[in-house]
Amino acid sequence: MDAAVYLGKEQLPVLQVPDPQPGPGEMLLTIDACSVCGTDLRTFRHGDKKILPPRILGHEFCGRVVESNAPESPVKVGDRVVMYIVLVHGRDRYVEMGRENLTTERTTVSYHHDGAFAPLLRVPALAVRNGNLFRVTSDIPSDIMSLAEPLGCCLNAHSRLRVGLKDTVAVIGAGPIGIMHACLARLQGAQKVILLDNNPARLALAARFDIDAAVLVRPDGSHRDEVRALTGGFGPDVVVVAVSSAAAQNDALDLAARAGRVNFFAGLPKSDPIAALDVNHIHYKELEISGSYSEKKSDFQAAFALLHSGRFPADRIITHRLPLQRIGEAFPLMESGVALKVCILPQP
Ligand SMILES: [Zn+2]
Repeated sequence: MDAAVYLGKEQLPVLQVPDPQPGPGEMLLTIDACSVCGTDLRTFRHGDKKILPPRILGHEFCGRVVESNAPESPVKVGDRVVMYIVLVHGRDRYVEMGRENLTTERTTVSYHHDGAFAPLLRVPALAVRNGNLFRVTSDIPSDIMSLAEPLGCCLNAHSRLRVGLKDTVAVIGAGPIGIMHACLARLQGAQKVILLDNNPARLALAARFDIDAAVLVRPDGSHRDEVRALTGGFGPDVVVVAVSSAAAQNDALDLAARAGRVNFFAGLPKSDPIAALDVNHIHYKELEISGSYSEKKSDFQAAFALLHSGRFPADRIITHRLPLQRIGEAFPLMESGVALKVCILPQP
């Protein structure tokens, strides 16, 4: 089969590789759709020490079971499925507390197991046994269901942000993840949802969504005054940082209202993780700061159910669909802000 194989920084050629063969307890999927993640882009541009090449990337996918060596599984040949990509190998305190994303005893699809930028994917036996496959029971399109993975990551952050009817919410970063955060805030009843970005093209795309204000981040800092004016002078109750930038993290701490909640959804580059932040905002305003990494199985389950409900505007988040051979075009589309989600359709 053809597959997009990561060979190192700036190298993701589509190569001929042997078809995967499912072993005992494993399943084989045909992949209908696999969306490109911001982490795929980061891996392509900067490499990732955790990914040992050669590795087929792609972890936001929906496909169909075409072969099963796991007769005891409730998932059968012919079922359309999405997959929780965290494979839990043992039980430690984090698994026990339901935060399996934080366990060190995990491996992940597209990091340690081949991913879905290919027409076929082998599902490891552990994933089958642990119940990582979720059956898609409606006729909702596969490209939409591929968003269960990134949406689950956003829900992981929201499980600590507790957005409700009293809250104004600002999201810094109007890429697909920022837009998902904004849409989740709206669905949870936020009074006002504000998106910020320094790229006017991204803000223009944001206008397709039910958002109250789109604010351009400017070097002179005047965007902060604009957000304050939009929130009665108080600043937003909740701020999500969905862009890998220390300046955005500082903006979040500065903008947040007193007693506000701030989530650093995006990390900083591993090569440059130390930032100068005005931490007195945390002290004097009694801010609650949280991080967010990957997702719990319960988040994936919630995202899966939300997409099934049809209440999430997933169809507007996928702006581009490309065949596997053109995967290289996805990265500049994402970087320029012309695209939100780019979905790869790997079937020849
Ligand atoms: Zn992802």
